Formats: sequence, structure tokens, C-alpha cells
Amino acid sequence: MAAQETVDHKYVYDFAEGNKDLKDLLGGKGANLAEMTNLGLPVPPGFTITTEACKAYLDTGREPDGLAGQIETHLESLEREMGRKLGDPQDPLLVSVRSGAKFSMPGMMETVLNVGLNDRSVVGLSAQAGGNDRFAWDSYRRLIQMFGKTVCEVPGEEFEHALDEAKRAKGTTNDLDLDAGDLRGLVDAYKKIFLKHTGREFPQEPREQLDLAIRAVFESWNAERAVLYRRQERIPADLGTAVNVVSMVFGNLGPDSGTGVAFTRDPGSGAQGIYGDYLANAQGEDVVAGIRNTVPLQELERLDKKSYEQLLDFMARLEGHYKDLCDIEFTIERGKLWMLQTRVGKRTAAAAFVIAGQLVDEGLIDLDEALHRVNGAQLAQLMFPRFQLDHELQPVAKGIGASPGAASGKVVFTSARAVELAAEGEAVILVRRETNPDDLNGMIAAKGILTSRGGKTSHAAVVARGMGKTCVSGADELDVNIPAKKFTVGEHVVNEGDIVSIDGTTGKVYLGEVPSMPSEVVQYFEGSLDPEHIDNALVRAVHRIMTHADATRRLAVRTNADTGADAARARRFGAEGIGLCRTEHMFLGDRRELVERLILARTDGERADALAALLPLQRADFIEIFREMDGLPVTVRLIDPPLHEFLPPLEQLAVNVAVAQERGEDVAKEEALLAAVRRMHEENPMLGLRGVRLGLVIPGLFAMQVRAITEAAVAVTRDGAVAKPEIMVPLVGAVQELETVRAEAEKIIAEVVGDSGVEVLIGTMIEVPRAALTAGQIAEAAQFFSFGTNDLTQMGWGFSRDDVEGAFFWRYLELGIFGISPFESIDRDGVGRLVRIAAEEGRAARPELKLGVCGEHGGDPDSVHFFHEVGLDYVSCSPFRVPVARLEAGRAAVETDGSDSR
Ligand code: PEP
Ligand code: MG
Repeated sequence: MAAQETVDHKYVYDFAEGNKDLKDLLGGKGANLAEMTNLGLPVPPGFTITTEACKAYLDTGREPDGLAGQIETHLESLEREMGRKLGDPQDPLLVSVRSGAKFSMPGMMETVLNVGLNDRSVVGLSAQAGGNDRFAWDSYRRLIQMFGKTVCEVPGEEFEHALDEAKRAKGTTNDLDLDAGDLRGLVDAYKKIFLKHTGREFPQEPREQLDLAIRAVFESWNAERAVLYRRQERIPADLGTAVNVVSMVFGNLGPDSGTGVAFTRDPGSGAQGIYGDYLANAQGEDVVAGIRNTVPLQELERLDKKSYEQLLDFMARLEGHYKDLCDIEFTIERGKLWMLQTRVGKRTAAAAFVIAGQLVDEGLIDLDEALHRVNGAQLAQLMFPRFQLDHELQPVAKGIGASPGAASGKVVFTSARAVELAAEGEAVILVRRETNPDDLNGMIAAKGILTSRGGKTSHAAVVARGMGKTCVSGADELDVNIPAKKFTVGEHVVNEGDIVSIDGTTGKVYLGEVPSMPSEVVQYFEGSLDPEHIDNALVRAVHRIMTHADATRRLAVRTNADTGADAARARRFGAEGIGLCRTEHMFLGDRRELVERLILARTDGERADALAALLPLQRADFIEIFREMDGLPVTVRLIDPPLHEFLPPLEQLAVNVAVAQERGEDVAKEEALLAAVRRMHEENPMLGLRGVRLGLVIPGLFAMQVRAITEAAVAVTRDGAVAKPEIMVPLVGAVQELETVRAEAEKIIAEVVGDSGVEVLIGTMIEVPRAALTAGQIAEAAQFFSFGTNDLTQMGWGFSRDDVEGAFFWRYLELGIFGISPFESIDRDGVGRLVRIAAEEGRAARPELKLGVCGEHGGDPDSVHFFHEVGLDYVSCSPFRVPVARLEAGRAAVETDGSDSR
């Protein structure tokens, strides 16, 4: 056997052979078990079957050649080390079979415990446990239950009903009241269930149990809930899971045994200290499922001081070794501590910043690493509102603040209902006694999750934290009745559809909607909290990391803003100019009437009058914006959408005209409008008379805007401020378009600027694929390019940007054609390639060409990294995303290896 292993591809690794850097091959759990083993921590011996074996199995539907032999070899050496044989009738070795992918997917895949038990070894197990028959039969019934459900798809409820039945017969509701005889009876009942559903007896052969369990773990990679979770968390579908075969240790051997979960810092707030839950006389699954209520880890000091102190020592060693928050699962078997798992722990957004700051203070990491450890999505989460502190509502219950944030919405009790109402645009709070992996859909759809059972490490808490979703768990004053679709709390009855509010930081639950307030992080960005003088660990950490991001990044960050107020806010958020001021927004409201005059003008004179009336209004708009952006560049885009967008819709106008005619009113103006709307109707307005085409067709329109921009810049400069206008022409596809507009604009600019010293740049958007492909020519006429990636995506893919996301993207996502909408995150291979070509060819033609992006992608974390790689000068995004873009631009600059920090 051993000789075969050297010939075959290596699919199995002993824990002593791996290390923490082999996550791709051994999965997170396996790699970290190996790391702990090598650190000399007490890990139950075992081995890991690689993700490659899983992938080979999933590709071909059978175990790869050599795997069975390698498992045999490693099992034999495990048996030697433990001095026991798998399933031996006298003194059995039992193993757990656990999934473990590269990225943690809590509860999504399968685990089978107590493999190796059968009708004969159950007796041996009892002897091993000092004649504890009850324990042995309980372990056996757990094996049949898990094996049946996981490996053979026996409906889990059948086992649960049988268990309930056994308790009812005994007149109890507590599992612990069932004695050995009862559990033995239950094993018989379970075996019958197994036989009924599978048509075969429960397998007695230990090695067969092991092989089937391994296969079931492989297959669980493609279980529906795992697929859904991966999609949600953007985990690639082709990684596969590793399988860990670990010798069993038992936390349910009596009061001197137990199991727990520990964090080296608070994963909620980041505060230093010892956090965790402990459950005496129980197995790990009992804690994670939140089935019995745990005690705080500190209680362990009283229960078992030696193990507690050892645990603290191990935790300190692990944190020092991993240089990060670690989460740990452990079991104490009759006073002996075993480490079952560790990993760099998931944490809330706030904790991510606070911990990164602390680790810098402790000298464990540097600021570059701190920047790498946080991300824009976390920062965005911290900018969500919180409940107002002075609201009048009294909480009706208090659970555990399991995942922070503030959420209000309609109560729903099932995942299906959550999905249904969310699809109708309702905010919903999913209320459950506890959640399990089948609730995933509902959890994704809900604004928040509220459970009456379970701690910070329950399924609901772990999954919600991972998703950044508000969650209150273990609110045990709630009596949740799912079939009746209601819960009661004190004297209140809350039905489906009633509004509740939950605070995932404090754990408080309110009836009705609680008013919310901006986050402290937003207040800090707004300048109303001074990080040097307030005692707020989060704000100080954000300040420190943002300062480093700003010092590190190469990309500048501008904002998309059309009003003075937006510009001012964005500037407070750190914007270094405006990358897109959409002037069409200035043609709305009471100015529509002037636009109508412009459209209906029959003579040059009428048109000139309408434009002359618009000019001072536009000038005033620009003056306000230039003042707010004193000293910083402001890119003003000439009007882009088709003019008929400013007119009433055809149907509405037709009805108005008909009704007015009926009443005998004077409808001459409406009739003219209606005729204009009919005349200007386009089948594909997005590809029609808009952007530069409009400027070339309607005499004086662009000229008026150029004049207004330049006059505003001169006026602001004369007042002592510094205006840096950049005039941007939309929808250019050919250099000739730009040259024509530019020639006219330059004349006006020269005339208006005079001796004011104002410098006006002229550039173009690159948003039509042809522009990207002829960028070398276009750069001859442009002082800057700004990528309009919204239109570039629309025209690059041929996806109507207003229609497709709702219409069919779900199917494309389902098929994996893309993992995320290309309107949200730049499609690097296609649209991104156009950007790359245009940047390279543009710069080749004009080395000083300024390059930026102003499509929605400018504020998307992943896209920011791409724009950094391509070498743009700046990104521009909406004011609220400016801090996110600053942070991600800093991260892009330090992450030269391009890895992510999931
Ligand atoms: C774009 O197309 O990316 C862009 C910024 O312009 P708009 O969204 O206004 O079409
Ligand atoms: Mg556009």
C-alpha cells in the first residue's frame, strides 16, 4: 500500500504533513488542523482527503484511482497511533468525517460523527466509556440519524419524530431523561426508518460507513444550499471541498466533559478579551445548532480551571501565530482539552477595522497589512444608519446582538414568505426559533433576522455576520409559533405582517418602526466627530486606516455630483473633484418650460431666445458647484439624453389634448408639443439622438452650455476662488464629432476667458465601443478621457441597461454566465478590455492624457482594483461611495499580488 502511494497522485495528507498555507488543497479546516498539529497543540489525530480528490469525484462520478488505497494506508497508521481499530467490537476507534472547503461555508456541507459504530462496537464503546451504556447507545443513534440524513437522504424529520415519540413515552421533553434502554429502543426505531427509506439495513461494516460518508461529503459540495451560499458569497463553484477524517473525542461523557467555541477577541465589536460559549456534557453540534443554551466561556474557569487556563494559553499562541482574530472549537473529554478547529475568524465590519487597528498597535502587523484586512463592503456597511438613541420606544425583548446594524420591517415566519414579500419590495424581518441552512434563501431576502434561541455562534448569528445582515439571536422572551404565524412576547401578540425593529448591536427588539440616525463613521466623514478627541475605537480605527489608504493610493477619487449640496458633501467625504456633473438634471423642474420652448422653436430667433433664457440659470448652477469645489477639477458633461425625455409622455399628452379639445379649450400649445413628441419618437432612444449627436444637430445648445461653464469659472475666479473646469462631450464615437464640438467650444472659451487666467480643458467620455477602439485618434482631440462604463457595458454587451437586470439576469447568474451583474462590477474580460485598449492607445497618442472613470463602476470595490491595474488617474462615484473608493484604491495599491482578503 505504502509503495502505491508514491506512484499515485497524492490525495490524502496526515495532519502532520499539511500546513495553514495549503487551504486550496486541504480546505481551511484541514490546513488549520495541520497547522495546530505542527504547533504542538492537542489535535485529535486524523487525515485530510484533498479538494482534488473531491473535484475528480465530482467530474467523473467515482473516486479517483488510488484514493481507496491511500485512505487505507492512512487509516492503518491512524489506528496504530490510537492503538485501536476502526469499529473494533472490543475497543473501537471512531472517527468523524467532516467537510472543509477553502472558504468557510458554515453549516452548508455535511458532517458525520461516530463512524465505526455498529451493533457490536456499541458494546465496546460502552466499555471504553467506563460502562456508560447510555452514552454508547446515544452515540449510535446519533450516527444512524446523521448517516441516514446525510449519506442516504432519509428525511431528518422522521428521526426527530421518533425521538419525540421516545420522550413522550417517557413523559419528558428532555433528551437527557432517556436512559440506555430507551436509546437502545430508539436505535431499533431508527434502523427501521433507515430500512424503510433506503431498502437496505444500516451498514454494519465500518469501512463501508467511512467510504459512504466521504462520498456524501464530496457530493454535499453541490447541494442546493451550498450552491446558493457560494453564489451569495461569491465563492467560486469549482473549488471542491476537502474531507477531514478525525478520531472522535467526546464532550458528552459526563460533567467533566463539554464542548465550546471561543474567539480571541469579540467578533462583534473587536474588543480585546475572551469571548465564547461553553456547553457541558455535550457534543459540538449541540452548540452550533443552538439547541441548548450555552454558558459564557468564562464559566469554564469555575468548572475546569486547568482546561480553562490551557485554553487561554492556546488562544494566545494561536493569535500570535496567525496575527489575527482566531475562532476556535474545542472539546473537553473527561478533563482533557482537545482542539477541534481554528481559523481566522469571521467578524463584523466594525470589528474588522477595530482589530486591524489594535494589531498595528500591538506590533503584530503593519499599516499596509491593516489596510489589506478591511474592505470597502465593510466600510459601506458601517455607513448604514443606526437607530436613534433618543427614540421613545421601549424594547419588548432583548436577545444577543449577533450581527450589528438596525433593521425594521414586516415580520415573516418562513423563508418562502420572506422571499415572496421581499420580491414585492417589502422590508421583512425573518423570525424563527432558530435558523438552519434551509433558511438561507429567506435570510438573504430579509433585512434582518430574529431568533428566540441560540448564541453568538448559532447558525443564524454566523451566517448573518458573514452576510453583513442585522441579526438578533436568542431573544428567549419570544414565544415563536411558526404554524400559527405569530409570536408572543409579554402581553403582546405579533402576527405576520406587523412591523418590528431589531438592533443587532444591542440585541434589543422593538414593536413598530424605530427612527434611525446616521452612523458614527458617516459623522466622522462629515467632519462632526474628531477622531483625535473622541473615545470611540471604531472611529479612530477608520481614521487611521483611511489616512493610510489616502497616503498609499495612486488613484484619485472624485465624485459624481450635480448640485452644490452634493458637491459639498462629497468633498467632506474626501472627493478630490467632480468627475461627472450631469447637466441634464439642471433642465428639470420649472426649467422644463424653457426646454419645451427650445424644442418647439420654429425659427433661429426663437431657439436663441430659449437658450438665452437658460444661460443665466446654467451659469448660476455652475457657480455654486465651482465654489464648493474651489481649487479642485470639475468635469461638466454637456447634455446627454434625448431632448424628448424632457417632454411629457406621449400617452399622457394625447389624453390631455383629447380631453381639452372635448371641453373646447385652446390646445394649440399642447398640440404642438404632441406633434413634437411624435416627431421625435425613437424606437431605440439609447442609441438615438443623444449626446454629441444632439449637440451637432441643435444649433447653439452646446455653445450655450460651454459659455455658461466658462462664464461661471471666470466669475468664481474673479471672486478669489479657483475654478478648474473640464468640459466633457458625451457619446463620442468618432474623432470628427469631437473635433467639430471642440472647434466651436474653443472659440467661445477664448472669448469668455479673456485675461482671467482660467484654463478650460476639453475632453470626452469613452462610452461607445467605437470610441474605445479608435482611442488613439480621439486622443488627438481630447485632453482627457472619462470612461462611461454604464453605456460601455450597455453597448459592449448589447444589454439595454434599463431592462435586462430585472428581465433575465437571474438566469444568467443561475447559469454562471457571470457571477455578478456587469453593470455592478466591471466585466474585466470584455468591457474591461475596451477600457484597457483605450487607455493604452489614448496614452500612446497623448502621454499627458488624463484618464478617469465615471460610470457606476467607479465606486465598486472590485472594479476600483481593475482601474488601478489599468493605470487610470482617478475614479468618480456617488458621494456616499467616495470613502469606499478611497479605501479600495489604497488596498489596490498595497495588494500587488492581487489576492483578495475574504
Ligand atoms: C456612463 O454611461 O457610464 C455614464 C457615466 O453616463 P450616464 O450614466 O449618464 O449615461
Ligand atoms: Mg453614458
